[in-house]
Amino acid sequence: MPVLKEMDNSFSLLIAEDNLPSRMLIEKVLLSEGYGVTSVENGRDALERLKKQFFPIIITDWEMPEMNGLELCRAVRARNFARYTFIILVTANDAKAQIIEGLEAGADDYITKPFNRAELIARINTGKRIIKLERSLLKANEEIRILSITDPLTQVYNRGYMSKRMTQEIKRAKRYRQPLSLIICDIDHFKKVNDLYGHHAGDLVLKEFAGRLKGCIRDGADWIARYGGEEFLIVLPETDVKGASKAAERFRRSVAEKTFNIEEKEIRITASFGVAGFGSSADNEEISFQSLLCRSDKCLYQAKDAGRNRIESMQPFTGSGFRIKGKEGI
Ligand code: GH3
Ligand code: MG
Ligand code: MG
Ligand code: MG
Repeated sequence: MPVLKEMDNSFSLLIAEDNLPSRMLIEKVLLSEGYGVTSVENGRDALERLKKQFFPIIITDWEMPEMNGLELCRAVRARNFARYTFIILVTANDAKAQIIEGLEAGADDYITKPFNRAELIARINTGKRIIKLERSLLKANEEIRILSITDPLTQVYNRGYMSKRMTQEIKRAKRYRQPLSLIICDIDHFKKVNDLYGHHAGDLVLKEFAGRLKGCIRDGADWIARYGGEEFLIVLPETDVKGASKAAERFRRSVAEKTFNIEEKEIRITASFGVAGFGSSADNEEISFQSLLCRSDKCLYQAKDAGRNRIESMQPFTGSGFRIKGKEGI
């Protein structure tokens, strides 16, 4: 009895073959090699499965009812799925012209019937090498993408990403008539931290500061970006100014109430917050990232002027200019 190899679930294969004995034979080989296997009887069903689930490798017969292997190859390539599928065409005819036709239709490799077990496994291994290469490329691209949008010191989003994403957030909020708020915060007297403890300690404070903000936001909804030096933006979708002010108070307390223990020193810092936003019926109002930023920045400077470690907010674009009273720090 063959010993089952360790299940290689990351490579589940799709077999399209109308001939039952032939299909069972391929299944048997693949299962004994530890692959996950899904089988269908024609190209059309294979395509349907592919729309629902990604298969890195397909082994398809050429001659099949409904949609043959050649048509399946063309359909898969025409669809431009996000990830590459390696296609092995099974053909009863190894005439050069047929092989060329198969490869031109989008097959990556072929095997002739009756197939040899060792050859089938070797062809699949070729596919695996290509798919693994693609996976490592995708992973590297994703890492580069993340690096390109992340602030290296604090690991929150950087300014470039912030501008792009804010434009999208504003569009979305207007389209669905949802509120949106923006908080800008700035560490109080941060220059003194650098002067007293050194630039490196200052960097570590910034890191922990961003970490504390992250710990207070709604996961998957709110997001944070470093606007510059010791200034951060927190974006709160589906949140009005009142809700954002409450959130800002949480941020303020999370910073002010616990010392930053940096390089065996206990550093106390505070931050000031400016909050601006718009409500759910804001579709006709003149709102842009710049106008929101300008309003929250004004509030921030009021918070600084009023003594720091405070929150100031501006009611949304109602024209009333009503201002929530800033909160005194502890
Ligand atoms: P205020 O309460 O008015 O905000 O005073 P402040 O001292 O925080 O403001 P100011 O704008 O005068 O100084 C900001 C300081 O932040 C100056 C700069 O050296 C420091 N800073 C900016 N970026 C970094 C950084 O990446 N690392 C460190 N360690 N310091 C930084
Ligand atoms: Mg057939
Ligand atoms: Mg500043
Ligand atoms: Mg500052």
